[in-house]
Amino acid sequence: MQITAAHAEPLEVPLREPFTIATAQMVATRAALITIAADATVGLGEAACLPPVTREDLPDVMLAAERTLPRLVGNAVVSPEACASLAASHAQETPVLAAALECALVDALARSRGTNVAGLFGIASTTRTLESDITIPIAGEAEMMRVGSLWHSAGFRAFKAKVGKSWEEESRALCNMHASLPGLRFRLDANAGFTAQEALAMLSELRRHGVVVECFEQPCARDDLDGMAAVVREGDVDVVADESLRSAADLDLLVRRRAATSVNLKLVKLGGFGPSLALGLRALREGLGIMVGGMVETRLGMTCAATLAACLPKVKYADLDTAWLLASDPFVGGFASEGPMITMIEGHGFGVSRADVAR
Ligand SMILES: [Mg+2]
Repeated sequence: MQITAAHAEPLEVPLREPFTIATAQMVATRAALITIAADATVGLGEAACLPPVTREDLPDVMLAAERTLPRLVGNAVVSPEACASLAASHAQETPVLAAALECALVDALARSRGTNVAGLFGIASTTRTLESDITIPIAGEAEMMRVGSLWHSAGFRAFKAKVGKSWEEESRALCNMHASLPGLRFRLDANAGFTAQEALAMLSELRRHGVVVECFEQPCARDDLDGMAAVVREGDVDVVADESLRSAADLDLLVRRRAATSVNLKLVKLGGFGPSLALGLRALREGLGIMVGGMVETRLGMTCAATLAACLPKVKYADLDTAWLLASDPFVGGFASEGPMITMIEGHGFGVSRADVAR
């Protein structure tokens, strides 16, 4: 496959409601859409930024893309591995851009061969349906209850609760939801906001009220592996590393320090689809559980992540909800959804097209 054109444009889709986590607030996606044309087909990738979870923000990605993309034209790509190495070598300083480039190249390569992404990677058996959780951003008690009730009526039972600012207030909000919305399972995500002591205090407060906690994601700061390890040891809970996992070297460190029992795989952190698949398989061999998530991404990014989840033999947590938080959908295809259930749609590449082109 020979690359004939490469293009980047801002992809800022408004959110239905502001999205607040311990370290950031967003009102629209902060992404760039990467388009690669090759062999009479087109591949798409979403470079989704969410600083400080990602180092880059949208202007950094656009600037790097302007410098990088023209140099890709004329390159030949013959394998999925070549997609990752070409992307990594051209966007070393901007991992989010490298990941989106890799996805766009993988998409184009699979389409040029008339296959889907699983086929391109030689994966014979994939999962067809996934149950996603839904994110409940940090807000006042009444607001969290209002949002929670809406999603509960839509059939969602796994709530990814953003915490990490005040464990006392957040515990109260979660206990309220637990008391009035039957059958909830919580996945806590502190986005690095707590000390180990705060995380452990929150866990015991929630348990005292019978709240079901499936896992505790990134309770402590990225580099506070002692804190993470203390929550693993003393919390009796599945500790998911997110901010602490940005590379294969991070995975080794987490395993060595026993600082996590699961990892959150996000394509934009890890160099795109192929590298995330490889890292996920390694994490499974290490006995870790897998969450597949994303930044605040559109249908395009969510489909790439859902495809990763579908291609891995075992995924504990699908956190693939952000396309449902947007006020509009600039893409078609990839997956169909009903409530929390995602059904993958068969197609070439990742199977997603721009709505304005498909129409
Ligand atoms: Mg997270």
